[in-house]
Amino acid sequence: MKLILLGAPGAGKGSQGEIISKRLNVPIISTGNIIREAIRNETEVGKKAKAIVEAGKLLDDATVVAIVEERIKADDCKNGFIFDGFPRTIPQAEALDKMGVNIDKVVNIEVTDEEIMERLTNRRVCPKCGIPFHLINRRPKVEGICDACGAELIHRADDSAETVKDRLDAYHAQTEPLIDYYKAQGKLLSTNGSGSDIPVVTQRTLDALGI
Ligand SMILES: [Zn+2]
Repeated sequence: MKLILLGAPGAGKGSQGEIISKRLNVPIISTGNIIREAIRNETEVGKKAKAIVEAGKLLDDATVVAIVEERIKADDCKNGFIFDGFPRTIPQAEALDKMGVNIDKVVNIEVTDEEIMERLTNRRVCPKCGIPFHLINRRPKVEGICDACGAELIHRADDSAETVKDRLDAYHAQTEPLIDYYKAQGKLLSTNGSGSDIPVVTQRTLDALGI
C-alpha cells in the first residue's frame, strides 16, 4: 500500500506512521530523514541539496522531488511506503503524479491549531538520544532530565510558540490545499488526530484504512 500522511506539524504523522509502517510492513519515508540521508551518502541530488542547505536556503520542490524519486526506487519500497512530510506543496503532488506513482490513500490527520500549539510548545527533547518528552503528557521522571541517558532536556527553537505559529501558517498556506487536491482524486480519508494516547489515536486511522 502506498500512503500519504497529511497533517499539520505536530499532528502525529511520525508516531502514527511508525505503527502503520509495522502493520503494513512498508517503510515510512520522512522527507527530513531522506534529505539528511542523501546528503550523507553524497548522492548526485544529495550534493545539490547540501549546497542549498549550507547556503541557509529551503530546498526547492524539484530537489525534494528528485530525492524522493531516488528513495522510492529502493528495494524496500517494492510493496509500498508511507510518506510523512511529502508532498508538502501542490507542485510536489503534481510531480508525484507525473512520476506515475499510484498513491492508494491519503490520510488527513485532523488536529486543531490550539492542540498543536499545546503539544509542541510543551515538548522537550533529549539532545543525546533524541527521545521526546512532554511537560504534560510524558513527563520525565526527574524534571529536565532524560529518563534513558540522564542528559539535560532541551526546548528546541523549532518548538517555540513563535516558530510553531510560523510553521502552522506555512502549513495552512502551502500544504492544506492538498486536502482538496486528493479529495478530487477520491483518495482522501480524514481521521480525528486529537488526544495524547498514540495507540488510541492511531487506531482511528487504522480503522479508517480498514487495516
Ligand atoms: Zn537521552
